[in-house]
Amino acid sequence: MSTIKARALVLEEPGTQPVLAEVDVLDPGPGEVRIKIAASGVCGTDGHAIEGTHPLARWPIVLGHEGAGVVESVGEGVTGIGVGDHVVCALAVPCGTCRQCRRGLAEHCNSAARRQAMSGVMADGDSRLRYGGERAYPFFGVGTLAEYSTVRREQVIPIDPALPLDEFCLAGCGVITGYGAVMNVARVRPGDSVVVLGAGGVGANVIQAARAAGASTIVAVDAIPEKLELARTFGATHVVEASADVAKEIAAIEPDGADAVFEVVGKPELLTLCLSLTRVGGACVMVGIPPVGSKITFDAFTLTANRRLLGCRGGAVVPARDIERLVSLYRGGTLNLAGLIGRRIGLDDVFGALDALGKSTFARSVVVF
Ligand SMILES: [Zn+2]
Ligand SMILES: [Zn+2]
Repeated sequence: MSTIKARALVLEEPGTQPVLAEVDVLDPGPGEVRIKIAASGVCGTDGHAIEGTHPLARWPIVLGHEGAGVVESVGEGVTGIGVGDHVVCALAVPCGTCRQCRRGLAEHCNSAARRQAMSGVMADGDSRLRYGGERAYPFFGVGTLAEYSTVRREQVIPIDPALPLDEFCLAGCGVITGYGAVMNVARVRPGDSVVVLGAGGVGANVIQAARAAGASTIVAVDAIPEKLELARTFGATHVVEASADVAKEIAAIEPDGADAVFEVVGKPELLTLCLSLTRVGGACVMVGIPPVGSKITFDAFTLTANRRLLGCRGGAVVPARDIERLVSLYRGGTLNLAGLIGRRIGLDDVFGALDALGKSTFARSVVVF
């Protein structure tokens, strides 16, 4: 083993433009693996890091957090995985030892160890990335917009090599977040009615997970007509343009409101609308990530009618459990990954994909290495 030089998308500090540059990807230490990235999605959260609205503990960072690849080398003491294995990168992995983890609530793990892993710091306190000779950090501990990445063993989930890596990279963030919002957070049941505000890379997955959960009415709301067409292919039974009187249009479909309403845009003011669209006893879920410090106002009385206003950290998933479930849905034909990919691009074209975030007519751009 020796240090590998890799091309990577580096963000020197929040609020600046990222650059394509060479980084040193150091050897995996104990309990770590180095992977050759095969594909990485370009997600809205990468855009938030660039804008400076996503809090970063340390920088510079290598962007990208929705990746899949092949294990290139393994560090000391790594078990259950070997060179050549295909893996999906997992963002947030429970520590396994804190109070929440011990109580079987690993999806709520918030230990210092988990936060350290997500900031790209290894157990020994160092990172495995160097940029211009200085320490750099992989975004969410994975930094997948790079040719190689050294990550903790727990942050890679092995998958069958027959599964397409350019599709399964999306399982790491957009797909699992949408799936988890439906299955783990709102707990949509057969026959439920569902409203989804925002039909992009995560929203399309909320829609297809709601279909998989047996929802009978699925209303998609988006500002971009092509995304509404896409929403239909993922299972939306009704579509509403965001420029319309959304409350009125949805009242015409579900007069008493919906059993589950998902905000997948990240605009705090939309959450107030979402709550007003939620049926008595229903769930209103904030899936989109609002800017840190933003405030919302709503009639607090609304909550007296058993409505549940729910937060959703990445779909409240446990990657080792939920990625396996996604594989089962994919094999059963109820999880469409190919349809999420609007463009397959090279790393040199990543800037165009970043510019298109929030404006594109498709769900995802995927960088294929
Ligand atoms: Zn993401
Ligand atoms: Zn824990």
